[in-house]
Amino acid sequence: MKAPSPSAPQAATTAAMNVPFFRPAIGEEEIAEVERCLRSGWLTSGPTCKRFESDFALAVGARHALALNSCTAALHLAVDALGLKAGRAVLVPTMTFAATAEVIRYLGAIPVLVDCDPVTFNMDLADAERKIAALQAGRLKHITGGAMPELVGIIPVHVGGLMMDMDAVHAVAKKHNLWVVEDAAHALPAAWRPNSNAPWQRCGEGTSAVACFSFYANKTITTGEGGMATTDDQSLADRMRMMSLHGLSHDAWERYSGGRSWDYQIVEAGYKYNMTDVAAAIGVHQLARAEAMRVEREAIAKAYRAELGDLDTLELPPVPENRIHSWHLFPVRLKLSQLTIDRNAFVDALKSAGVGCSVHWRPLHLHPYYRDRFGWTPDEFPVTSPLWERLVSLPLFPGMTADERAHVVRVVRDLCQRHRA
Ligand SMILES: *Cc1c(COP(=O)(O)O)cnc(C)c1O
Repeated sequence: MKAPSPSAPQAATTAAMNVPFFRPAIGEEEIAEVERCLRSGWLTSGPTCKRFESDFALAVGARHALALNSCTAALHLAVDALGLKAGRAVLVPTMTFAATAEVIRYLGAIPVLVDCDPVTFNMDLADAERKIAALQAGRLKHITGGAMPELVGIIPVHVGGLMMDMDAVHAVAKKHNLWVVEDAAHALPAAWRPNSNAPWQRCGEGTSAVACFSFYANKTITTGEGGMATTDDQSLADRMRMMSLHGLSHDAWERYSGGRSWDYQIVEAGYKYNMTDVAAAIGVHQLARAEAMRVEREAIAKAYRAELGDLDTLELPPVPENRIHSWHLFPVRLKLSQLTIDRNAFVDALKSAGVGCSVHWRPLHLHPYYRDRFGWTPDEFPVTSPLWERLVSLPLFPGMTADERAHVVRVVRDLCQRHRA
């Protein structure tokens, strides 16, 4: 046995506490299933992917679920299957991750960015209507390169796992004849209902054309990298499956399962977006624990709200009625007028006190690509532009210990106290 070197770090009792922003909760079941998969000899899309897909479809209440190698792939396949063409326009929130809008660019279409709600950070549908009116009146020609593109779709994002009012989204979509693809990267499990007498509607079982989920390492369930597209529409499911594997007429699983012959035909120039069975082996057990992990995150979020709720230098995320919140994120808003430091200094101070944190997100219109290429300006997003300078996401993950939470609370309270204006 190797003796510890004299310079080895001391035991945790003497070391300062360090709370990561996220720590994936991988159980022994996942490890055993991956081992079983590796020993089975079938590593890529096969029986474990099929099992993950049927478990997932059942969990969210969708007819079809397609296991893919990312949520970005799911979004790309969705807009492709819906027939998005170059030069068309799609409504996308500016308060989102890169993937939501880039898939529109993959097909040469134009993302029309929309401002957000100041409390939920979800797309503001009143601003969506304003952007539609501006587009139709030719007042967005500086964005569309002089063209008057046809608006064809809308991609709402359930930011942090707090679902949008989907009746309101579908009302806008119906009025303007738009398809709806949900970027549900944060929203597993999540649900909403219009009022307390209505039944819950799970994210993924809605009336949207497609919902797209992410299993990236720090999402609510993980497969390392991975994603899922769900839909009730057979022809969208068929097109997405075909395009997810090189545009072949049928996939390797069908060849493997014996129903089909060795022959296949290339019917489109497709992509390579299939999930591996190694990833699905992690996914089936993560999915089985998804609600238990959500309940753990919810308890931590409630504790944060109780333990930070009295600070007049912070605004905490809301707990709206009629939502089952996945609590993927816990974003706080700094009241900058009450503080002597800005967000960046706050983030630096958290990090040096051993609290991992992040910012969700620098909005799309403040990235060089969308700013320089399309000419969006901050004043076109009066809510999001100042909001993002106040945002900090605190650590929130299942398995976070009471000591870890207490450390985060202590550090945040201390910072707010010391830098109070
Ligand atoms: C993480 C994320 C994605 C992309 O997910 P991947 O699985 O990494 O492709 C898309 N949209 C949002 C809002 C995300 O947070």
